[in-house]
Amino acid sequence: MTISGIKGFNDILPGEVEKWQHIEKVARRVFELYGFSEIRVPILEKTELFARSIGDATDIVEKEMYSFVDKGDNRVTMRPEGTAGVMRAFIEHKLHAIDPVTKLYYMGPMFRYERPQKGRYRQFHQIGAEVTGVTNPLVDAQVLTMLCHFFAELGLSEPRLEINSLGCPDCRAAYRGVLREFLHSKMDELCDDCRRRVETNPLRALDCKSSGCKAATSNAPSVLEHLDKGCAEHFAATRHFLEVAGTPYSINHRMVRGLDYYTRTTFELVTGMLGAQSAVAAGGRYDGLVSDLGGPNIPGIGFAMGVERVALLLAEQDFKRSPDLFIAALGEPARDQAFRLMSSLQRIGVSVETDYEGKSLKSQMRRSDKFNARFTLIIGEEELAIGRGFLKSMSAGTQEETPFTVEEIYLKVKGVDENKTC
Ligand code: ATP
Ligand code: MG
Repeated sequence: MTISGIKGFNDILPGEVEKWQHIEKVARRVFELYGFSEIRVPILEKTELFARSIGDATDIVEKEMYSFVDKGDNRVTMRPEGTAGVMRAFIEHKLHAIDPVTKLYYMGPMFRYERPQKGRYRQFHQIGAEVTGVTNPLVDAQVLTMLCHFFAELGLSEPRLEINSLGCPDCRAAYRGVLREFLHSKMDELCDDCRRRVETNPLRALDCKSSGCKAATSNAPSVLEHLDKGCAEHFAATRHFLEVAGTPYSINHRMVRGLDYYTRTTFELVTGMLGAQSAVAAGGRYDGLVSDLGGPNIPGIGFAMGVERVALLLAEQDFKRSPDLFIAALGEPARDQAFRLMSSLQRIGVSVETDYEGKSLKSQMRRSDKFNARFTLIIGEEELAIGRGFLKSMSAGTQEETPFTVEEIYLKVKGVDENKTC
């Protein structure tokens, strides 16, 4: 009997993992252009951290968390998202004392007990970024511009940016009342969850994926019409700065997001290519979170993207790497020469493959084809005797004589394709 993995927990195999590495590399490069530093926080946190920050009446906390009691009787949870842990670390290590304005990014696995389907898993991965210490909407526009820059850098025309404002606790309380009243008139059309939510967390009804609730709330009052003066100005200025930066967006006044800590600006990057899993990245401002977690009164804004969904958007692209060179050796002495060259070339940045089993020339050439090596070098008895052989370019089909010196081979292999990185 073999043992299989757990439902909703995926392996990322060679062939696919290169795409992930590319996404991560582009994220690091782009985020660092905007002055962000990486932070790595634990996967396991006290359950209370998520209950207090994400909110007790959210789907995540109510039904999706992987929580358990550990051997020391502590209630712990495998993180369902990254912001709470990053802000916990920000407060615990008093990063605000060094500078209240910090720009942090993270990447890693998150865990939610959801129904697995395309683009939705139980272990999934997020790349996220957070900025603390700035109330000015300039930073809202900066974070959104960076996120759009990241997707453009991946060569993706989708996803599109949608923004909204959820106001501050004051104006949201007023809006919540207006919305609750509206929902009371639609009770018959709402799903069981939403009927319950009308009392506990009516905004969640706007985010419900059931078609009945979508129809029932289609002309629900807009949160944007209930913003107070400060929040309305913040939203207008965010839009202004997005226009200044040349970052296209549209407004979606129904976007409420699934976490209670959001205030004012919220946003999603949405695609029409992944069915119901339309949000590729999402986030917002959380001006009360740091103080709710016992830290100083410092605002924040951030986002997280789902790496699986980004990878699905890149589905057609092939990121598989192929070696620069394949060396085929015939006979023991040639094998020594091949191994010497191979080791020296690898040390100076040439990727080299070979056949470890000393098979026939034909089978070695088949292996070279399989690797899709850019060049092949054959070392037989004759080549060994004269110290030279033929370096064959697999794409051009041409071959060039070369001495078995590391310098010559390096120049020939690396000099031809200047875009090739090592
Ligand atoms: P959705 O509406 O699709 O459930 P969400 O609002 O729960 O998304 P967030 O909590 O804001 O999502 O997380 C940010 C991003 O993380 C999402 O936009 C998505 O790309 C990704 N994500 C969230 N949950 C999952 C999951 N179970 N599997 C894969 N990716 C996910
Ligand atoms: Mg969700």
